[in-house]
Amino acid sequence: MANTKKLSLATWIFIGLAAGIVVGLLLMGNVEFADNYIRPFGTLFLNLLKLIVVPIVLFSIMTGIISMKDIRMVGSIGWKTIVYYLCTTAVAVVIGLVAASVFKGIFPVLSVSGLEYEAAAAPNALQVIIDIFPSNIIAPLTAANMLQIIVIALFVGIGIVLAGEKGQLASNVVESLNEVFMKVMGIIIKLSPFGVFFLIVPVVAANGPTILGSLALVLLAAYICYVLHAAIVYSSTVKLMGGMSPIKFFKGVLPAMMMAFSSASSAGTLPLTLECAEKTGARKDIASFVLPLGATINMDGTAIYQGLCSVFIASCFGISLTFPQMLMIVLTATLASIGTAGVPGAGMIMLAMVLQSVGLPVEGIALVAGVDRIFDMGRTCINVTGDAACAIIVTRLEEKRLAKKASKTQAPSVGA
Ligand code: ASP
Repeated sequence: MANTKKLSLATWIFIGLAAGIVVGLLLMGNVEFADNYIRPFGTLFLNLLKLIVVPIVLFSIMTGIISMKDIRMVGSIGWKTIVYYLCTTAVAVVIGLVAASVFKGIFPVLSVSGLEYEAAAAPNALQVIIDIFPSNIIAPLTAANMLQIIVIALFVGIGIVLAGEKGQLASNVVESLNEVFMKVMGIIIKLSPFGVFFLIVPVVAANGPTILGSLALVLLAAYICYVLHAAIVYSSTVKLMGGMSPIKFFKGVLPAMMMAFSSASSAGTLPLTLECAEKTGARKDIASFVLPLGATINMDGTAIYQGLCSVFIASCFGISLTFPQMLMIVLTATLASIGTAGVPGAGMIMLAMVLQSVGLPVEGIALVAGVDRIFDMGRTCINVTGDAACAIIVTRLEEKRLAKKASKTQAPSVGA
């Protein structure tokens, strides 16, 4: 009994995940049961996560900005975060493209006759940028439009800092509400081992046999890229720029990775990502700024998937991509992943934008749509890990900057 109590949340989540996979495999012939009696509990858990994610993003970004007290500091953290997010995403697309080119020879060439895919949902790149700016302050909150909520949080947070004395009341209210929602989040996080179990069972029950099907090689290629990206890009940047051992980092963020894997939602995993990143060493104000932003705009796993699937779909249609087309894919997949919402399946919709940008047939998405959830679990896991890596790195870079500044201001007085 005493031992049971000591098991960490990560262990409990792992137990939930493993038990879910076993039960899912057992239910493989009985998908209906999993759908009717298990999936609803997973939906219940996801609803709780969705319930908390809007106030968390709104108040934690505002609190992050308020606690920096200085607009220059917001700028300093902001540009480091954006540069890290953009560079790692571009590297991710390149990894996807390179791996796809390597695997191309052994990819299955699926029949493309009679394919249909509704591509109307794919916006163009400029529209993605325009849509970030809301014309109404309430609508984005009720629609849970994360990019727009981030814009509101940034403007209001900066406004509170600039208002100084007069903004004090608003600042107290925001900080207090942030604390309250963090507590609510804590309660929901305690339920995550059950949530993970209920979410994974129907996925395994429905997809078990499909994994062995014709797309196994493409899925394998995607997962190899996910692992490579984590092992190369995150390990090295966390070590070199964040000064942390990669093992410590991955151990610390493991609960969030498992949650991301089973929920396929970066936004839904955000509460856990915040908790893990802070426990692993990210500064609280930095994590509250970097992570909600990352859960919305930083999607390295999605970028890998989009690069890889573009090449795969092209080869199914007998099209060979040229170098300029590949460059175009790097650019649009980076943008598309920014515009991808942190919810299940969003990356597949944005794949249409990437395909359109290089004139590939959008109906090709139908080739991979059947197993999208399996791609999605891995890509979400990478998306979330990238956010946490950024929080650790920016924390370290800020500490270094502050230490340097402090030593500079001390130096003349020592000499004087
Ligand atoms: N499910 C992914 C996420 O939440 C987005 C995607 O579909 O690629 O991060």
